Amino acid sequence: MSRPLVPGERVLLLDSKQRRYLVTLEEGAEFHTHSGFVPHDTLIGADEGVTVTTTRGSRYRVVRPTLSDFVLKMPRGAQVIYPKDLGPILMLADVFPGARILESGVGSGALSTTLLRAGAEITGYEIRADFITRARRNVEAFLGPEVLDRYHVEERDCYEGIEGDGYDRIVLDLPEPWQVVPHAETALAPGGILVAYTPSITQAATLRARLAEGPWSFAETIEILQRGWHIDGQAVRPDHRMVGHTGFLTHARLMGN
Ligand code: SAH
Repeated sequence: MSRPLVPGERVLLLDSKQRRYLVTLEEGAEFHTHSGFVPHDTLIGADEGVTVTTTRGSRYRVVRPTLSDFVLKMPRGAQVIYPKDLGPILMLADVFPGARILESGVGSGALSTTLLRAGAEITGYEIRADFITRARRNVEAFLGPEVLDRYHVEERDCYEGIEGDGYDRIVLDLPEPWQVVPHAETALAPGGILVAYTPSITQAATLRARLAEGPWSFAETIEILQRGWHIDGQAVRPDHRMVGHTGFLTHARLMGN
């Protein structure tokens, strides 16, 4: 069944060099490039996958962005977690529809969008008011306004404590996750899972040392390496360049008494 593009939704335009542009469709608006423009009205009502031509002859393919496309293109203040790590975080945190998750810090909302899309209910703690605004905007832009019913972000310092208990999961992307561990021990339900993303291995080691002092089991730290391949006929080899490093993922489960 076809689902034509409508005003207000975001589309991704790809040029012949695979460059990507994220555009919000608006009646009467124009998408401008170095070689002419495309009226949005040409796209509105068209099916995904359509190819459009600018006034000066350049061709663009048009699709709805995937979550991964959106994360790479969305407006950001803080550094976001990349799709390479976002996918594994969903598994490590074992996110399920209705899971009650405490997330901190919220940053630009890339991780929030991913957790919400998997059906989680998020309480977010973030110390910067401007990031809260941005994260909400990004989440809403990709998932729509209804999702804000299960996305509650507070301007709070997570090192100072977590209000409430019975959380299923705690997912952290902030500089000193070990400072959150004592609070996680009361806020998480028994069997609950903590996952922390840290750019540096010394952060992971400090976190692991703190987890080892408490009622935690199944602790593990991993990194995700992703290597693309160049495939062109018989010329098949790994890409020359790869992303060498993003961050480490540490996870553990809280045990009961
Ligand atoms: N995971 C986010 C990026 C988070 S960047 C994403 O994918 O978009 C780290 C964030 O942690 C920043 O926004 C920073 O303001 C926030 N932060 C740092 N220390 C904090 C603390 N003690 N409590 C709450 N938030 C904190």
